[in-house]
Amino acid sequence: MTNERICPICSKWFIPNKYRPNQEICSNLECQYQRQLNNMKKWRNGNPNYFKYREGKDVTWKETCKERAKHWRERHQEYLKLYRQEHKDRYRLYMRDYMRDYRRKRKAKQTKETLPAPSGESKKVK
Ligand SMILES: [Zn+2]
Repeated sequence: MTNERICPICSKWFIPNKYRPNQEICSNLECQYQRQLNNMKKWRNGNPNYFKYREGKDVTWKETCKERAKHWRERHQEYLKLYRQEHKDRYRLYMRDYMRDYRRKRKAKQTKETLPAPSGESKKVK
């Protein structure tokens, strides 16, 4: 069962997120960011007068700025979410390796400590 597809941005194979089976862009942060830029461009092309129109009205200018900042935050929230998600995954992997290493070291240390000391005892057994 493979749902692999090619990311149109980095042209790499990727497996869509199981929560987003229709994912078209790989979860690579740069690709996700690029996708958002593309969306923004597309939207601006579809609304060429949006900013010009608003900019002409001084009274609403502040509002527009606020709105724009809000839009920006909303757009980037997804980006930040992705970033955090990726970061969390990396952190989890890091911790997993770290703990595995830690346990191994601790075990090795314990084994060493419980090993019979190389004293006269072993000679007696012989
Ligand atoms: Zn990609």
